[in-house]
Amino acid sequence: MIIMKSDATSTQIKAVIKDIESHGLRADVSRGDFRTIIGLIGDERKISFDHLAMLPGVKEARMVETPYKLISREYARLAGESEHRVIKVGDVEIGGDELVFIAGPCAVESKAQLFKIAEGVKKAGAHALRGGIFKPRSSVHSFQGLGAAGEDEANEALSWFREAGDKFEMPVVTEVRGESQVDLVAKYVDIIQIGARNMYDQDLLVKAARTGKPILYKRHFGAGIEEFLSFAEYMVAEDNKDIILCERGILPLGKGKSYTRYTLDLAAVPVLQKETYLPVIIDPSHAAGRRDLIFSLSCAGVAVGACGMIVEVHNNPVEALVDSQQQITPDEFKELVTVCNKIHKIIGNRRNGG
Ligand code: PEP
Ligand code: MN
Repeated sequence: MIIMKSDATSTQIKAVIKDIESHGLRADVSRGDFRTIIGLIGDERKISFDHLAMLPGVKEARMVETPYKLISREYARLAGESEHRVIKVGDVEIGGDELVFIAGPCAVESKAQLFKIAEGVKKAGAHALRGGIFKPRSSVHSFQGLGAAGEDEANEALSWFREAGDKFEMPVVTEVRGESQVDLVAKYVDIIQIGARNMYDQDLLVKAARTGKPILYKRHFGAGIEEFLSFAEYMVAEDNKDIILCERGILPLGKGKSYTRYTLDLAAVPVLQKETYLPVIIDPSHAAGRRDLIFSLSCAGVAVGACGMIVEVHNNPVEALVDSQQQITPDEFKELVTVCNKIHKIIGNRRNGG
């Protein structure tokens, strides 16, 4: 990391970037109000920090050991930027003062179903609409999402999704399962979701980040926190800092019945928010895998400082084509929103991990 002097000129900054690039590394330039910070992307051992420190305009050059330096709070602090990034999507602020609720069906099943649920979640207090069009499924024999039927079907489902978002004034978020879907999905949605199973797909992360759209990035169920953040760094290295981290449960321990689909790692929420300036939300639906626990886990997530949540809501959960056992009704969602907002009022903004 290179800290430029506050009076460093743009010619000096450019010369430092050129020097970094001549060593086969890339530079992430963060221009704060008071000074510019340059992060090195690549193998820092290829470059001498003593040499960098001597360049005109450089105040300090130091090696940063953490594998996720570009998203670290230290980086934001040194650049004089906010240590609590607020991601703005239309009128919605993720990581701002208010809790953010993203809600909708696990999968988009039909236009009528989508519009009905969109209307229901909007009335209940949702800020953004979710809905899967390309579904990650463990069996090839199960419903893969409307997008799987072909490009025309994918375009059609995505256009309903866009229309529902516009009609009910909510930004929309859907998952991309592979690189080939990124350009298509980016044409329609406001936020791109990268699911737990794809947390490690570097090429997908880079491609999605390059669209410039905010990314809702889910932790893999077997990933450590450092690993999660290290992979998030791939997107920020593409100059996209609008990354929403999502804790969605890790693999349950021990033998025998676990009673939940995954284990919501509550401590990960304040830990992630202490380590980075990125906002963190929870996904109680996939963590629990059963609707009777969604309310409790949502409350718990807010109590540990989550900035919001993504919740699966269906007008007729029992009939849902995917994840029917964990979706709640718009009425249940409304109660959840009301209580979570009350808890948030008491807890306040806990992004310092306090
Ligand atoms: C989803 O949100 O639809 C989903 C499949 O979640 P996850 O990637 O967390 O399993
Ligand atoms: Mn689901």
